[in-house]
Amino acid sequence: MRIDTTPIIRLEDYRPSDFLIDNVELDVKLHPTETRVIATLAMRPNPEGRTDAPLVLDGDELNLRTVALNGRTLAAEEFEASPQSLTIAQAPRQPFTLTIETEINPTANTKLMGLYRSSGNYCTQCEAEGFRRITYFLDRPDVLSVYTTRIEAERDDAPVLLGNGNPVESGTVQGSDRHYAVWHDPHPKPSYLFALVGGRLGRLSKSFTTLSGRAVELAIYVEPGKEDRADYALDALERSMRWDERVFGREYDLDVFNIVAVSDFNMGAMENKGLNIFNDKYVLASPETATDMDYAHIEAIIAHEYFHNWTGNRVTCRDWFQLCLKEGLTVFRDQEFSSDERSRPVHRIAEVKTLRARQFLEDSGPLAHPVRPSQYREINNFYTATVYEKGAEIVRMLKTIIGDEDFRRGMDVYFERCDGTAATVEDFLNAFADVTRRDLSHFARWYEQSGTPRVKVKGQYDSGAQTYRLDFAQSTPPTPGQPKKDAMAIPVALGLVTHDGSPLNATCDRVDARGVFLFDKPEDGITFMGVTSLPVPSLFRGFSAPVKVSLGLPDEELLVLLRHDTDAFNRWQAAQTVAMRLLAARSTGAEVSHAQIDAFSAALASFMESDAQKDPAFAALVITLPSEADIAQEIGQNVNPDAIHRARTEMRRRIGLSCANHLRRFHESLADTGRYSPDATSAGRRSLRNASLDLLAAADPSEGESLAVRQLESASNMTDRLASLSVLTTLPGAVREEALARFGERYRNEPLVLDKWFTLQAAIPEDGTLERVKGLMQHPAFSIANPNRVRALIGSFAMLNQVQFNREDGAGYRFLASVVLRTDELNPQLAARLLTAFSTWRMMESTRRSHAEEALRSIAQKPNLSRDVGDIVSRSLE
Ligand code: ZN
Repeated sequence: MRIDTTPIIRLEDYRPSDFLIDNVELDVKLHPTETRVIATLAMRPNPEGRTDAPLVLDGDELNLRTVALNGRTLAAEEFEASPQSLTIAQAPRQPFTLTIETEINPTANTKLMGLYRSSGNYCTQCEAEGFRRITYFLDRPDVLSVYTTRIEAERDDAPVLLGNGNPVESGTVQGSDRHYAVWHDPHPKPSYLFALVGGRLGRLSKSFTTLSGRAVELAIYVEPGKEDRADYALDALERSMRWDERVFGREYDLDVFNIVAVSDFNMGAMENKGLNIFNDKYVLASPETATDMDYAHIEAIIAHEYFHNWTGNRVTCRDWFQLCLKEGLTVFRDQEFSSDERSRPVHRIAEVKTLRARQFLEDSGPLAHPVRPSQYREINNFYTATVYEKGAEIVRMLKTIIGDEDFRRGMDVYFERCDGTAATVEDFLNAFADVTRRDLSHFARWYEQSGTPRVKVKGQYDSGAQTYRLDFAQSTPPTPGQPKKDAMAIPVALGLVTHDGSPLNATCDRVDARGVFLFDKPEDGITFMGVTSLPVPSLFRGFSAPVKVSLGLPDEELLVLLRHDTDAFNRWQAAQTVAMRLLAARSTGAEVSHAQIDAFSAALASFMESDAQKDPAFAALVITLPSEADIAQEIGQNVNPDAIHRARTEMRRRIGLSCANHLRRFHESLADTGRYSPDATSAGRRSLRNASLDLLAAADPSEGESLAVRQLESASNMTDRLASLSVLTTLPGAVREEALARFGERYRNEPLVLDKWFTLQAAIPEDGTLERVKGLMQHPAFSIANPNRVRALIGSFAMLNQVQFNREDGAGYRFLASVVLRTDELNPQLAARLLTAFSTWRMMESTRRSHAEEALRSIAQKPNLSRDVGDIVSRSLE
């Protein structure tokens, strides 16, 4: 096993910085390979720091030219410098000015952290620790400074120059072909929120007036010629700003708000103050190039980054252990926004699907960690589903427990108290504890304890007494570093449903006015009175807590919920639970009678008959079976992905056959009208149409093929076109190959569309796919240095293609290991993300398990691994 010797950083070791930086003046002379940065830092000792400490500034691959203290250039013996740090042993005990000149090479920066070039443009990425790749600094989020940035570049090379805050001055550099711009950000901020951009960019803009009448110029900068593809993003920005005013009372606080789209970016987007930088796939959209899902993601991410202006920027994090303070809360806010703009139940189901697929998976494997981790080796490895998605669920549970009004009051108090500070999770919870006078210390355990709690429920009806009793028991399995678990405070939103859907006047004094029972002991039970007939319990309505539930009800009773529950989430959940039972049983060779499958198909058919037209988006979710990865997770051990694939394919076929009439009707009646709109209602119709096509093709491949080909040829938007191509990828043969070739040709100059094409092919569940993927790595549009391309092709192969990544001969694992090692030399963050695909290795059957272990060990053995990859590989093997 690899012994990782990189130091561990621990929450308990936190201490305030010994020095502070009140003011930063940056002078950046952009050059492709020799960019000069002069940083003038107004510093002072921190009254809360140690009095005898040396001044140690962080660096990363920096090249120091000169350093001056209070204007006097320091001699070599007065400081110590390396690419990683700059130390001044005898720093003054009163305020002083430090001037540092560094030289950096943006063209050579393939890690995409710090200052780098993307398609010839200059841009920066500083979260979490990228600012130290620009200049030496106290690069930690609790050091807040006011920044003024002067950016200079050759005018032809970079006609657009952008910085944080407001523009204050611009002009020509006398006697040269260079120009400059000065930006000033009056809001003190940590260095991770710094950004600058220089390049040749097109612009789309709009003015906005805030609630209190402040004029703001909104602008989105994109590759010239693609301005019209930014209109949806700009509209989403405006709607986000209005929503935050209306729902949280939060206004924007600068004269401009700029967004720049870049094509090389490690993550989705970044909330730099007044200058958000986005992965271009989350900005650019047109009906011809983007799917409904792309539009929904753009809306959510635009909102997310904008909402950070208050949750992240105005109130930032004391240290990186508090990452969920900004990320979990901001995900919660963007989810609420999307729910208000779209369909709340449909959006909730989508959120829970991703939570289960990504966070539950993480929480059950070697990379499990608390929402607020207590230690890390590499912070970049903690931008996880747990911090983001489970972090959002905690905020949602808090709101469920205390109610909407107190939640809003608590948020107001949080903003008021913490504005302009670097805060902690405790500060956040205290605001709500004070407002409600509740003790939230037990609830706070959600931040500390990792693992997904399991809740077992048993129901018992007493017809004589007309009572219904529910017994709850909870437990959380051990996770790395946490062998023993305590009981959690779990809000259970619940109700009782009668077999014929008639209303029931049952009461229970343990259930509050909002229908919530707080289950906070290892075991507890509640009794409903006035229950006049045998009910079906509807538990965890709206998915009121991130737990796994088991309830021993027969399929027929669960399906009562699909028909009669008032809670849409649980209607969907009922169908999923029954499908999952059948699929898991089939995949593990257990007996499943035809009658059971027929009963489920019949329930789906009657649901389609009665409900599908009312809410097509919801219906599409109901008729879509759990994914192969979901089934693997449910089985949990000795997994054979081939058996899962066979079981799921067979079940799709059976449902397709028995519901064929409905499915054909949906596919026909919801056909493309030629007028595309990305709104949720239109998107919902397309999703039911395409889910229907998928099942039809499973039932009758030749009918499916001809329907898909026709749809592919006539589609007027990318959603329908891609959906039909996706159906064709499940049908081997010349028609598929021809369709793929034509699609690739048609979009050869559209990298974001080719990403979808890479993904579809990487996900084909056939033996030839590994060779196909290797071949596509030679495609002219593919680049191992571009994160979007790598994730679309290699990431999709590893994460979406259960049968081929987990090939029995281990070739899928060896392939991924080789790509991880290659990528690690260029971009460690990207490599580490790809590597997380191995986190399911222990749940595989033994042959696959040993191949995966061997592949992981082959990585662990390599000398000079990045800290990012070293950390993931060693935790994966622990
Ligand atoms: Zn965020």
